[in-house]
Amino acid sequence: MGYIVEKVQEYLEKIEESNINAYIYIDRERVIKEAEKLEKDERLKRRPLYGKIVAVKSNINVNQYLISCASKTLENYISPYDATVIRRIKSQGGLIIGMTNMDEFACGSSGETSYYGVTKNPKAQDRIPGGSSSGSAAAVSADLCDMALGSDTGGSIRNPASHCGVVGFKPSYGVVSRQGLCDLAMSFDQIGPLTKNARDALLLTNVIKGRDISDSTTVDTQEFKVWDRDEMKNLRIGIVKEFMEVSDKRIRERIERGIQVFRDLNWEVVELSYKYIDLALPTYYLINYVEFFSATRRYDGRRYGYPIEEVCGEEVLRRILIGKHISKKEYSGRYYKRALQARRMIKREMLKLFKGIDAIVSPTVPKLPHRIGEKLTPMEMYAYDVLTVPANLCGMCAGVVRCGDIKGIPVGLQVMGKPFEDEKILNIMIEFEENF
Ligand code: GLN
Repeated sequence: MGYIVEKVQEYLEKIEESNINAYIYIDRERVIKEAEKLEKDERLKRRPLYGKIVAVKSNINVNQYLISCASKTLENYISPYDATVIRRIKSQGGLIIGMTNMDEFACGSSGETSYYGVTKNPKAQDRIPGGSSSGSAAAVSADLCDMALGSDTGGSIRNPASHCGVVGFKPSYGVVSRQGLCDLAMSFDQIGPLTKNARDALLLTNVIKGRDISDSTTVDTQEFKVWDRDEMKNLRIGIVKEFMEVSDKRIRERIERGIQVFRDLNWEVVELSYKYIDLALPTYYLINYVEFFSATRRYDGRRYGYPIEEVCGEEVLRRILIGKHISKKEYSGRYYKRALQARRMIKREMLKLFKGIDAIVSPTVPKLPHRIGEKLTPMEMYAYDVLTVPANLCGMCAGVVRCGDIKGIPVGLQVMGKPFEDEKILNIMIEFEENF
C-alpha cells in the first residue's frame, strides 16, 4: 500500500469520527480504488496535483457522485459527468474524496439551510461555519482533506473561509469555467479553492482555470507564478473607510493589525472612500433573485428529482417567489433593468478607486459568526454579505487569509483586486500570510 491510499484511509477514518457534518456524500470503496489506481499511474506522477485529496461542494458535478445541492429536490441525483474543473483536477493527479455540505442551492451565508443539517465550525463548535460553502471550508479547517472547491456568488467561498480560519479565493469572473456548476446566479458565480495556505490556493487555481469551449465567458490566462521578493516591492494597498466602519469593532482591530504587516513591508497604505456601499446589497439580491428563479426552472421533477417548489426550504422558496414576481414583463423596467444600471455604476466607481492601487484590503464579514440555532431575519443574514458582494458585482478577484482570532474565533482579511489581476492578489495573500 502506497502513501496515497494510506492518506485517503486516514482521512476517511477521521471523517467517520468527526461530528461536524462537513460531508454529505462519500463512496469509500470507489475512493480507495481510485487511490490505488493513482498510485500505479506513472503518467500522473509528475503532475502538480498528484496525490492531493480534494473535497468538492455539492453543487459541482462529479461523475457517479450525489450532486444534491444540499436540497431534497436533488436527493437522488447521481451525476453522469465531470464538470470541467473536476476533469482538470483528475487530469493533474488530484483525487476527489467526496461531496461537502452547503446551504441549499448555495443560498445563504451560514451553512444552516442545508437539507442535511447544519455544519459546525471546527474552530468554534457552537458557531456557524459560514456559507454557503460551509462543508468545504470546515473540511479544510478540520483537516478532513488536503484542499477543497467551493463556489462564490456573493461571498460563499470567502465568508466560510474567514469564519473557519482557512484560505479562500474567488477568481475574477471568467477565469474558471462554470460548466458543470449548478447555477445560483450565473452572472456572478465562480468556482474557486479553499485551502490550508495561500500557496495551495494559487496551485489549485492554476489547475482549474483557463478557457473552456463549453463556457463562453471564460478567458485564457497564463500560468500564475509565485513572485520573488523583488516583484513584491513598493505595492500600494487601499483601505476603504466605509468597509471598516460597518464592521464590528473587534474585527476592525484585527484587520488594522493585519494592515500593519503591509506597512512593515514598506508598502504604501492609502485611505479611500466608496460612496455606493449601500447600493451593493439591494442590487446584488435583486439580480440574484431573477437569475436564480430562471435557473431553477429546470428542477421541475420531470426527468429527475422533485419539483423544487414542493420540497425546498424557506430561503430557496423566498427567492423563487420574489424572482418570479419581479421577472414579470411589466416589472422589468422597474426592477431588473434598474438593478443592471446600478451594477454598472457600482463597477465604474469601484474601478476608479483602483487607480494607482494594487489591492483593496478589508474585513470579510462585518460580524462574528453567530451561535448555531440563533434566529436571524433574512435582512440580518443578507447583511453578512455587504463586504463580499462588491467583488461579484464588479467581476473582481478577491481572496481571504487568516488574520488572527477573537477568543478563538478566526478572522479573515479580504484582499480584493481588479478583474484579471488574480496572480497579483494571490501573491499578496502569500506575502501577507508569510509575514503575519
Ligand atoms: N450569501 C449570498 C447569497 O445568499 C452568497 C451566496 C453565494 O455566494 N453562493 O446569495
